[in-house]
Amino acid sequence: MLVFTKTEELRYFRSSPYFIGKILGFVPTMGALHEGHGSLIAKSKEQADLTICSIFVNPTQFNDQGDLERYPRNTEADLDFLARRGCDIVFLPSVNEVYPPDLDTDLRIDFGKLTEVMESKFRPGHFDGVAQVVKRLLDITSPQKLFLGQKDFQQVAVIKHMIDQTGTGVDVWMCETIREEDGLAMSSRNLLLDEENRKRAPEIYSILQSAKGMYNEGETIPAIEAESNSRLKSAGFKPEYFQIVNGFNLLTPRTSSEENYLVACTAAWAGKVRLIDNIVIKAPKGAN
Ligand code: AMP
Repeated sequence: MLVFTKTEELRYFRSSPYFIGKILGFVPTMGALHEGHGSLIAKSKEQADLTICSIFVNPTQFNDQGDLERYPRNTEADLDFLARRGCDIVFLPSVNEVYPPDLDTDLRIDFGKLTEVMESKFRPGHFDGVAQVVKRLLDITSPQKLFLGQKDFQQVAVIKHMIDQTGTGVDVWMCETIREEDGLAMSSRNLLLDEENRKRAPEIYSILQSAKGMYNEGETIPAIEAESNSRLKSAGFKPEYFQIVNGFNLLTPRTSSEENYLVACTAAWAGKVRLIDNIVIKAPKGAN
């Protein structure tokens, strides 16, 4: 496994004959790697000839300085994890390598409603930072395929939009959410949960599953949202939102029967840790 910390060195290598005729798959991460990240690496290894993974805790997507400082960092263990999974290349840049002072990396893209709903209401500017770093990393690594997790559903929509708007030619693969045995979506932030909240946390997925059940029984979307919000509260969480959206554009569905792709998304505080999760309530035609 090759590890690069310098942008120019990676770029130089990327233009070498080593890559001729090879499909490169890219998995961007912020480290503290777990099986969720592992599944993206596995998907890339299945769908591409070579896999590059970046580990970079991107300061521009944190709207809370404390959150950035608390974010778990575990580089040695991460490199070991990636080597064991057969990752070919790792990019481990410093902030200065990603954002050199003389380079304008601001994107100035209009994301429309995509960045007005859900996460964006509570984390203003977050997706500008996400789109900025992913564009920059795509420019440096030039992959043909990009692997992202469904766990961050809104993030996938925002990144796809950025890719369309900037004409960046890369195929996006959204990979299913990997969960702990008790249903909790794997997340680097789970490491920060205290014992009580770790016990409570799987309830979020149970509530998402119940929401899907209610939908299948013909309950209306506003009723499902209200019920799920109150279940989150009774379970001891502080929910920020529980929303069922059109999976293509993240808009509020007009009527549940008219929409053919519905996703229930939620963010809730479990003690001092903010958790997000989602479930597809109605899959688009052709999806399995
Ligand atoms: P992060 O390191 O949290 O920025 O995540 C890096 C990538 O891994 C993103 O595309 C996430 O959506 C994805 N990811 C994080 N957790 C999971 C999970 N439990 N299952 C699948 N993908 C995940």
